[in-house]
Amino acid sequence: MNKTAPIIPRYPDAEHVPAWRRALAEAVTRPAELLALLTLPEEPTAASAADRFGLRVPRGFIARMRPGDRRDPLLLQVLPDAVECQAVAGYLHDPLGEAAAMAAPGLLHKYHGRALLTLTGACGIHCRYCFRRHYPYAEANPSGQHWAQALAYLAADPSLHEIILSGGDPLSLPDERLATLVDDLAAIPQLRRLRIHSRLPVVLPERITDELLDWLTESRLRPVLVVHANHPHEIDADVRQGLRRITAAGVPVLNQSVLLRGINDAADSLCALSETLFEAGVLPYYLHQLDRVEGAAHFAVDDARARALIREIRSRLPGYLVPRLVREQAGEPAKTPL
Ligand SMILES: *Cc1c(COP(=O)(O)O)cnc(C)c1O
Ligand code: SF4
Repeated sequence: MNKTAPIIPRYPDAEHVPAWRRALAEAVTRPAELLALLTLPEEPTAASAADRFGLRVPRGFIARMRPGDRRDPLLLQVLPDAVECQAVAGYLHDPLGEAAAMAAPGLLHKYHGRALLTLTGACGIHCRYCFRRHYPYAEANPSGQHWAQALAYLAADPSLHEIILSGGDPLSLPDERLATLVDDLAAIPQLRRLRIHSRLPVVLPERITDELLDWLTESRLRPVLVVHANHPHEIDADVRQGLRRITAAGVPVLNQSVLLRGINDAADSLCALSETLFEAGVLPYYLHQLDRVEGAAHFAVDDARARALIREIRSRLPGYLVPRLVREQAGEPAKTPL
């Protein structure tokens, strides 16, 4: 995500704008408004951090925050903070070496058997810790003029069995568009699985539409959805209902989280997150150690503490509710278990 990322396109015909797109367009983008909605005092320094990576948060997500609590775990994920502007040694623009893994514009092929398309820079929410906050989406958007190039690369590699739609957030694209892109991908015979990485089912449950379930389940490709929630407060009744609709349609849903200091670095929160997600039919997948991206150093949890947390969680939950603690390291053949 970056400042030059495409904004959500507007529909010319307002009557046919789906509710989720209206909710996206109405997201809060001014720190002063967010703080006022939570009855918190203004923070003039938030604006300068927002200048580098804008604030964006849907109103439904704000409704899950506790008014008056500056340390609310959902608020801390989105509120720009002056500490982001301090340079910290070892925190880089492209910590994962993604520029080197780009097989075609917007197509990352790092791991055996699967490749990842960054379809759009647009997200429903801007997470302050995002490792792609400096990603060159404007140059690396494969779904426009570079689409044929991406398809040709995929078609030429018989070892590729899975295609991952990522971003930004791929579900910020309209369903008609996604249906067409998925049709093109399904025409590549060696592809078997379609994986979607999206935070929208959590931050904007209205996004789970009939049209989305149609293209997701009608493709020849076997679908799997990986959502992204970090804290149990993110899962309210609407989110639970949306996630259940997806699993009821036969699509497995997994969750990945980022371990974030002051937000979810406590065994109680992480256990409650796994339990809450399971209630909604979702299994934990990864718990990521923070990628060392410029502006996110204040969220880092050291490895020893991260390992201790996972040991504690393992002692409390059934094995299938324990996420895999991993770090992504440039040049490695898979995420590295800790
Ligand atoms: C994380 C990632 C994947 C997926 O890895 P899994 O371990 O299969 O979840 C694929 N490609 C890239 C470039 C990635 O960063
Ligand atoms: S939704 Fe994902 S890609 Fe978008 S800002 Fe958050 S972490 Fe980054």
